Amino acid sequence: LLYNQVQDLKGTIRVYCRVRPFLPGQSDGQSTVDYIDENGNIMIINPFKQGKDARRIFSFNKVFGANATQQQVFVDTQPLIRSILDGYNVCIFAYGQTGSGKTYTMSGPDLTTQETWGVNYRALNDLFRISKSRMDIIEYVVGVQMIEIYNEQVRDLLVIDGSNRRLEIRNNSQLNGLNVPDASLIQVRCTQDVLDLMRIGQRNRAVGATALNERSSRSHSVLTVHVQGKELASGSILRGCLHLVDLAGSERVDKSEAVGERLKEAQHINKSLSALGDVISALAQKSTHIPYRNSKLTQVLQDSLGGQAKTLMFVHINPEVNAIGETISTLKFAERVA
Ligand code: ADP
Ligand code: MG
Repeated sequence: LLYNQVQDLKGTIRVYCRVRPFLPGQSDGQSTVDYIDENGNIMIINPFKQGKDARRIFSFNKVFGANATQQQVFVDTQPLIRSILDGYNVCIFAYGQTGSGKTYTMSGPDLTTQETWGVNYRALNDLFRISKSRMDIIEYVVGVQMIEIYNEQVRDLLVIDGSNRRLEIRNNSQLNGLNVPDASLIQVRCTQDVLDLMRIGQRNRAVGATALNERSSRSHSVLTVHVQGKELASGSILRGCLHLVDLAGSERVDKSEAVGERLKEAQHINKSLSALGDVISALAQKSTHIPYRNSKLTQVLQDSLGGQAKTLMFVHINPEVNAIGETISTLKFAERVA
């Protein structure tokens, strides 16, 4: 590499669509996905419509079908990971309604089976592998932060004492490049260190959750990997960072049904997902004003969206017929940012 490959990716936004398979026990009779092709097109059939209105094609950088493996999904991400070690910032998002496979793509179904590891672990594995291969030239230090954004409040997921402080966002902390300087920053040396941290993060995320109100679907989780490299010959320092973002479920909540806490959550989620869409589409259109200030999520990610930074979004769809409304609105969102 790959210089050309990295140049190719510079400043670009890539949008990939992934179709979740039918799960055991679901009738896999009818799917809303008519076909996908090699060129990034997906044709959706809406069984509730007739004739011309029933079919629609959406186009992305790539579409992964239900049989795609975690490794296949990760392959195009690999050049981005390398670029972090060269000092670039990268954001990778998982978008989609609850149950569409966001966490599966980012983390995988569990931490024990290496074959089904998600983007998070594969990315960190690559970071460690590549940084070792450069050991004679550059000395790298890798640190991890993990936060959750819930109802427009930022919380540290790596606290061990269970404290639940709200954290401030500071976009001017040139000092160390951290946008959330008070969130725990934990140095990691190998994938096992990262797995241990993920367990703490997942435990903290589950706090307060009940079966009916699963918090992970109502909050954004952001795993940030900070990389600092010191060139041994010159002593010069480079910095890159990777944000891995498992977004809150994008489903619309029926306003006539949701009340109280549930309505407030839904309003915060709508606001932050649309703020994210606005920022990405403003960047894609090379607009002069990028509206970062409209949500905590876009403020946290500000330095890593736009400029020389690279963005990758995986949008997820559930092929079941009863998900058709959310499937179409997910694909429309994705088309807007693509
Ligand atoms: P989300 O995070 O969007 O709510 P999940 O990732 O939890 O959705 O996925 C919902 C269910 O579907 C989980 O049981 C998950 O293991 C399963 N699943 C999602 N994507 C896949 C996939 N590509 N292959 C196999 N199972 C999947
Ligand atoms: Mg999830």
